[in-house]
Amino acid sequence: MNRPKQDLLGIEPLTKAEIIAILDRADALYATDNAKSDAMAGKTVINLFMEPSTRTRTSFEIAAKRLSADVVNVSESFSSSKKGETLLDTAKNLDAMKPSAIVLRHASAGAPQMLSSAVRARVINAGDGSHEHPTQALLDCGTMRRHAGKIEGLVVTIVGDVMHSRVARSNLFALSKLGATVRVAGPRSLLPPGIEALGAEVFDRVEPAMEGADVVMVLRLQQERMNGGYVPSLRDYSRFFGINARNVRAAKHDAIVMHPGPINRGVELSSDVADGARSVILEQVAYGVSVRMAVLEMLAG
Ligand code: ASP
Repeated sequence: MNRPKQDLLGIEPLTKAEIIAILDRADALYATDNAKSDAMAGKTVINLFMEPSTRTRTSFEIAAKRLSADVVNVSESFSSSKKGETLLDTAKNLDAMKPSAIVLRHASAGAPQMLSSAVRARVINAGDGSHEHPTQALLDCGTMRRHAGKIEGLVVTIVGDVMHSRVARSNLFALSKLGATVRVAGPRSLLPPGIEALGAEVFDRVEPAMEGADVVMVLRLQQERMNGGYVPSLRDYSRFFGINARNVRAAKHDAIVMHPGPINRGVELSSDVADGARSVILEQVAYGVSVRMAVLEMLAG
Protein backbone atom coordinates (compact mmCIF):
# COMPACT_ATOMS: atom_id res chain seq x y z
CA MET A 1 0.00 0.00 0.00
CA ASN A 2 1.50 3.27 -1.01
CA ARG A 3 -0.75 6.10 0.01
CA PRO A 4 0.45 9.03 2.06
CA LYS A 5 -0.64 8.95 5.66
CA GLN A 6 0.49 10.48 8.88
CA ASP A 7 1.98 8.14 11.43
CA LEU A 8 4.14 8.88 14.45
CA LEU A 9 7.11 6.60 13.93
CA GLY A 10 9.75 8.68 15.68
CA ILE A 11 10.94 12.18 16.53
CA GLU A 12 13.69 12.11 13.91
CA PRO A 13 11.32 12.75 10.96
CA LEU A 14 9.40 15.56 12.74
CA THR A 15 10.10 19.23 12.23
CA LYS A 16 10.53 21.68 15.09
CA ALA A 17 7.15 23.22 14.18
CA GLU A 18 5.41 19.82 14.33
CA ILE A 19 6.90 19.11 17.76
CA ILE A 20 5.82 22.50 19.05
CA ALA A 21 2.30 22.05 17.65
CA ILE A 22 1.93 18.76 19.58
CA LEU A 23 3.29 20.34 22.79
CA ASP A 24 1.00 23.35 22.46
CA ARG A 25 -2.03 21.11 22.05
CA ALA A 26 -0.89 18.92 24.97
CA ASP A 27 -0.52 22.04 27.16
CA ALA A 28 -4.06 23.10 26.28
CA LEU A 29 -5.40 19.65 27.16
CA TYR A 30 -3.38 19.55 30.40
CA ALA A 31 -4.90 22.90 31.39
CA THR A 32 -8.38 21.34 31.16
CA ASP A 33 -7.19 18.35 33.24
CA ASN A 34 -7.52 16.28 30.07
CA ALA A 35 -11.25 16.88 29.91
CA LYS A 36 -13.33 14.30 28.07
CA SER A 37 -14.27 15.18 24.50
CA ASP A 38 -15.88 13.36 21.59
CA ALA A 39 -12.90 13.93 19.25
CA MET A 40 -12.63 10.19 18.55
CA ALA A 41 -16.20 9.06 19.18
CA GLY A 42 -17.04 6.01 17.09
CA LYS A 43 -13.36 5.28 16.41
CA THR A 44 -11.27 2.41 17.66
CA VAL A 45 -7.69 2.42 18.94
CA ILE A 46 -5.78 -0.85 19.25
CA ASN A 47 -2.89 -0.98 21.71
CA LEU A 48 -0.64 -3.74 20.38
CA PHE A 49 2.01 -4.22 23.07
CA MET A 50 4.55 -6.94 22.30
CA GLU A 51 6.83 -5.87 25.18
CA PRO A 52 5.97 -5.15 28.84
CA SER A 53 4.60 -1.73 29.73
CA THR A 54 2.80 -0.15 32.67
CA ARG A 55 2.79 3.60 32.07
CA THR A 56 2.74 3.87 28.29
CA ARG A 57 -0.04 1.36 27.68
CA THR A 58 -2.25 2.72 30.45
CA SER A 59 -1.54 6.28 29.35
CA PHE A 60 -2.54 5.56 25.73
CA GLU A 61 -5.66 3.78 26.93
CA ILE A 62 -6.75 6.62 29.21
CA ALA A 63 -5.91 9.18 26.50
CA ALA A 64 -8.01 7.35 23.89
CA LYS A 65 -10.91 6.96 26.32
CA ARG A 66 -10.82 10.67 27.19
CA LEU A 67 -11.29 11.27 23.45
CA SER A 68 -14.24 8.83 23.52
CA ALA A 69 -12.55 6.20 21.36
CA ASP A 70 -13.14 2.49 21.93
CA VAL A 71 -9.90 0.85 23.05
CA VAL A 72 -8.75 -2.71 22.55
CA ASN A 73 -5.59 -3.99 24.23
CA VAL A 74 -3.60 -6.83 22.70
CA SER A 75 -0.53 -8.05 24.55
CA GLU A 76 2.08 -10.53 23.44
CA SER A 77 1.29 -13.21 25.98
CA PHE A 78 -2.35 -13.39 24.82
CA SER A 79 -1.75 -12.93 21.10
CA SER A 80 -1.30 -15.46 18.31
CA SER A 81 2.39 -14.52 18.07
CA LYS A 82 2.66 -17.26 20.69
CA LYS A 83 1.31 -19.64 17.99
CA GLY A 84 3.87 -18.46 15.46
CA GLU A 85 1.95 -15.69 13.67
CA THR A 86 4.16 -12.94 12.26
CA LEU A 87 3.81 -9.35 13.42
CA LEU A 88 2.74 -8.35 9.94
CA ASP A 89 -0.03 -10.96 9.83
CA THR A 90 -1.21 -9.98 13.30
CA ALA A 91 -1.28 -6.31 12.30
CA LYS A 92 -3.06 -6.92 8.98
CA ASN A 93 -5.73 -8.98 10.73
CA LEU A 94 -6.26 -6.28 13.36
CA ASP A 95 -6.32 -3.67 10.60
CA ALA A 96 -9.07 -5.60 8.80
CA MET A 97 -11.30 -4.76 11.80
CA LYS A 98 -10.91 -1.09 10.83
CA PRO A 99 -9.25 0.59 13.81
CA SER A 100 -8.34 4.24 13.32
CA ALA A 101 -4.99 3.79 15.03
CA ILE A 102 -2.65 0.99 16.06
CA VAL A 103 -0.30 1.88 18.92
CA LEU A 104 2.64 -0.50 18.72
CA ARG A 105 5.34 -1.40 21.21
CA HIS A 106 7.85 -3.94 20.00
CA ALA A 107 11.29 -5.24 20.96
CA SER A 108 12.58 -4.82 17.40
CA ALA A 109 13.76 -1.45 16.13
CA GLY A 110 11.87 -0.56 12.95
CA ALA A 111 8.74 -2.63 13.66
CA PRO A 112 6.37 0.40 13.54
CA GLN A 113 7.94 1.48 10.24
CA MET A 114 7.21 -1.94 8.79
CA LEU A 115 3.59 -1.81 9.94
CA SER A 116 3.14 1.67 8.61
CA SER A 117 3.43 0.60 5.00
CA ALA A 118 1.21 -2.46 5.51
CA VAL A 119 -1.88 -1.20 7.33
CA ARG A 120 -4.55 1.41 6.70
CA ALA A 121 -4.72 2.56 10.35
CA ARG A 122 -2.45 5.30 11.66
CA VAL A 123 0.57 3.76 13.36
CA ILE A 124 1.93 5.25 16.57
CA ASN A 125 5.27 4.06 17.89
CA ALA A 126 5.08 3.35 21.63
CA GLY A 127 8.72 2.21 21.77
CA ASP A 128 10.64 0.04 19.30
CA GLY A 129 13.72 -1.73 20.66
CA SER A 130 16.55 0.71 21.32
CA HIS A 131 15.38 2.94 18.47
CA GLU A 132 12.72 5.53 19.43
CA HIS A 133 9.99 6.29 21.96
CA PRO A 134 8.53 9.46 20.51
CA THR A 135 5.66 10.10 22.93
CA GLN A 136 8.07 9.76 25.87
CA ALA A 137 10.35 12.43 24.41
CA LEU A 138 7.35 14.66 23.73
CA LEU A 139 6.12 14.36 27.30
CA ASP A 140 9.66 14.94 28.59
CA CYS A 141 10.07 18.10 26.50
CA GLY A 142 6.61 19.32 27.48
CA THR A 143 7.42 18.83 31.17
CA MET A 144 10.72 20.73 30.77
CA ARG A 145 8.95 23.53 28.94
CA ARG A 146 6.28 23.79 31.62
CA HIS A 147 8.98 24.22 34.26
CA ALA A 148 11.46 26.46 32.45
CA GLY A 149 9.02 28.26 30.15
CA LYS A 150 11.16 27.30 27.15
CA ILE A 151 13.46 24.58 25.84
CA GLU A 152 15.88 26.68 23.84
CA GLY A 153 19.10 27.26 25.80
CA LEU A 154 18.40 24.65 28.49
CA VAL A 155 21.23 22.34 29.53
CA VAL A 156 19.90 18.79 29.76
CA THR A 157 22.11 16.07 31.25
CA ILE A 158 21.10 12.51 30.42
CA VAL A 159 22.73 9.96 32.74
CA GLY A 160 22.92 6.20 32.36
CA ASP A 161 22.41 3.54 29.75
CA VAL A 162 22.20 5.77 26.70
CA MET A 163 23.30 2.95 24.41
CA HIS A 164 20.13 0.87 24.81
CA SER A 165 17.73 3.73 25.51
CA ARG A 166 15.07 4.66 22.96
CA VAL A 167 14.09 7.42 25.39
CA ALA A 168 17.56 8.97 25.11
CA ARG A 169 17.56 8.76 21.31
CA SER A 170 14.15 10.35 20.91
CA ASN A 171 15.05 13.05 23.43
CA LEU A 172 18.31 13.77 21.64
CA PHE A 173 16.42 14.35 18.39
CA ALA A 174 13.74 16.47 20.06
CA LEU A 175 16.03 18.55 22.27
CA SER A 176 18.49 19.29 19.45
CA LYS A 177 15.64 20.42 17.19
CA LEU A 178 14.28 22.63 19.99
CA GLY A 179 17.67 24.25 20.70
CA ALA A 180 18.71 22.69 24.04
CA THR A 181 22.26 21.64 24.89
CA VAL A 182 22.38 17.91 25.55
CA ARG A 183 25.03 16.20 27.65
CA VAL A 184 25.27 12.47 28.15
CA ALA A 185 27.11 10.78 31.00
CA GLY A 186 27.68 7.11 31.71
CA PRO A 187 30.21 4.33 31.47
CA ARG A 188 31.86 4.31 28.03
CA SER A 189 30.40 0.84 27.45
CA LEU A 190 26.91 2.35 27.65
CA LEU A 191 27.48 5.40 25.45
CA PRO A 192 27.00 4.60 21.75
CA PRO A 193 30.03 5.40 19.59
CA GLY A 194 29.41 8.45 17.44
CA ILE A 195 26.78 9.94 19.75
CA GLU A 196 28.50 13.32 19.38
CA ALA A 197 27.23 13.32 15.79
CA LEU A 198 23.68 13.47 17.19
CA GLY A 199 24.64 16.67 18.97
CA ALA A 200 25.52 15.39 22.45
CA GLU A 201 28.47 16.39 24.64
CA VAL A 202 29.96 13.25 26.20
CA PHE A 203 31.10 12.95 29.83
CA ASP A 204 32.78 10.01 31.62
CA ARG A 205 31.89 11.32 35.05
CA VAL A 206 28.62 12.48 36.52
CA GLU A 207 29.60 15.63 38.45
CA PRO A 208 31.13 17.61 35.56
CA ALA A 209 28.16 16.65 33.40
CA MET A 210 25.78 18.05 36.01
CA GLU A 211 27.49 21.40 36.49
CA GLY A 212 25.05 24.11 35.49
CA ALA A 213 22.42 21.62 34.27
CA ASP A 214 18.77 22.71 34.22
CA VAL A 215 17.50 19.17 33.80
CA VAL A 216 18.90 15.84 34.99
CA MET A 217 17.33 12.93 33.11
CA VAL A 218 18.13 9.58 34.67
CA LEU A 219 17.88 6.35 32.67
CA ARG A 220 17.38 2.76 33.74
CA LEU A 221 19.96 0.10 32.88
CA GLN A 222 18.15 -1.77 30.08
CA GLN A 223 19.25 -5.21 31.21
CA GLU A 224 16.72 -6.89 28.93
CA ARG A 225 18.73 -5.54 25.97
CA MET A 226 22.17 -6.53 27.33
CA ASN A 227 23.96 -9.83 27.13
CA GLY A 228 25.97 -9.02 30.24
CA GLY A 229 29.39 -7.43 30.50
CA TYR A 230 28.39 -3.76 30.20
CA VAL A 231 28.91 -2.92 33.88
CA PRO A 232 31.01 -4.84 36.44
CA SER A 233 28.10 -4.96 38.92
CA LEU A 234 25.01 -2.94 39.85
CA ARG A 235 26.81 -1.79 42.99
CA ASP A 236 29.73 -0.44 40.98
CA TYR A 237 27.37 1.23 38.53
CA SER A 238 25.43 2.84 41.32
CA ARG A 239 28.58 4.04 43.06
CA PHE A 240 29.92 5.84 39.98
CA PHE A 241 26.81 6.79 38.03
CA GLY A 242 23.88 6.58 40.45
CA ILE A 243 22.19 9.93 41.02
CA ASN A 244 21.85 10.83 44.68
CA ALA A 245 21.35 13.82 46.97
CA ARG A 246 25.10 14.49 47.01
CA ASN A 247 25.97 14.57 43.31
CA VAL A 248 22.71 16.20 42.20
CA ARG A 249 23.87 19.35 44.02
CA ALA A 250 26.28 19.98 41.14
CA ALA A 251 23.28 20.84 38.95
CA LYS A 252 21.57 24.26 39.13
CA HIS A 253 19.80 24.92 42.43
CA ASP A 254 16.42 24.75 40.69
CA ALA A 255 17.26 21.87 38.34
CA ILE A 256 14.55 19.27 37.87
CA VAL A 257 15.13 15.50 37.98
CA MET A 258 13.33 13.30 35.46
CA HIS A 259 13.06 9.56 34.88
CA PRO A 260 10.91 7.79 32.28
CA GLY A 261 10.18 4.88 34.66
CA PRO A 262 10.33 2.16 35.72
CA ILE A 263 12.86 3.23 38.37
CA ASN A 264 15.31 0.78 39.85
CA ARG A 265 15.60 2.55 43.17
CA GLY A 266 19.08 2.52 44.64
CA VAL A 267 20.65 1.60 41.29
CA GLU A 268 20.40 4.58 38.92
CA LEU A 269 18.51 6.85 41.32
CA SER A 270 18.30 7.11 45.10
CA SER A 271 14.86 7.20 46.69
CA ASP A 272 15.44 10.55 48.40
CA VAL A 273 15.99 12.21 45.00
CA ALA A 274 13.24 10.23 43.24
CA ASP A 275 10.74 11.37 45.86
CA GLY A 276 12.40 14.72 46.64
CA ALA A 277 11.58 18.32 45.82
CA ARG A 278 13.43 18.37 42.49
CA SER A 279 11.67 15.29 41.13
CA VAL A 280 9.04 15.81 38.42
CA ILE A 281 8.69 12.11 37.70
CA LEU A 282 4.98 11.82 38.48
CA GLU A 283 4.33 15.06 36.65
CA GLN A 284 5.88 13.46 33.55
CA VAL A 285 3.36 10.65 33.91
CA ALA A 286 0.42 13.05 34.30
CA TYR A 287 1.48 15.14 31.30
CA GLY A 288 1.98 11.94 29.30
CA VAL A 289 -1.79 11.49 29.04
CA SER A 290 -2.11 14.99 27.54
CA VAL A 291 0.63 14.28 25.01
CA ARG A 292 -0.99 11.02 23.93
CA MET A 293 -4.38 12.70 23.66
CA ALA A 294 -2.81 15.40 21.48
CA VAL A 295 -1.11 12.82 19.25
CA LEU A 296 -4.20 10.61 18.87
CA GLU A 297 -6.44 13.58 18.19
CA MET A 298 -4.07 15.08 15.61
CA LEU A 299 -3.45 11.82 13.79
CA ALA A 300 -6.68 9.91 14.11
CA GLY A 301 -9.31 12.29 15.51
N1 ASP B 1 9.67 3.02 29.89
C1 ASP B 1 10.77 3.43 29.06
C2 ASP B 1 10.81 2.60 27.80
O1 ASP B 1 9.89 1.84 27.55
C3 ASP B 1 12.07 3.45 29.77
C4 ASP B 1 12.53 2.14 30.36
O2 ASP B 1 11.92 1.09 30.16
O3 ASP B 1 13.56 2.19 31.03
O4 ASP B 1 11.75 2.71 27.04
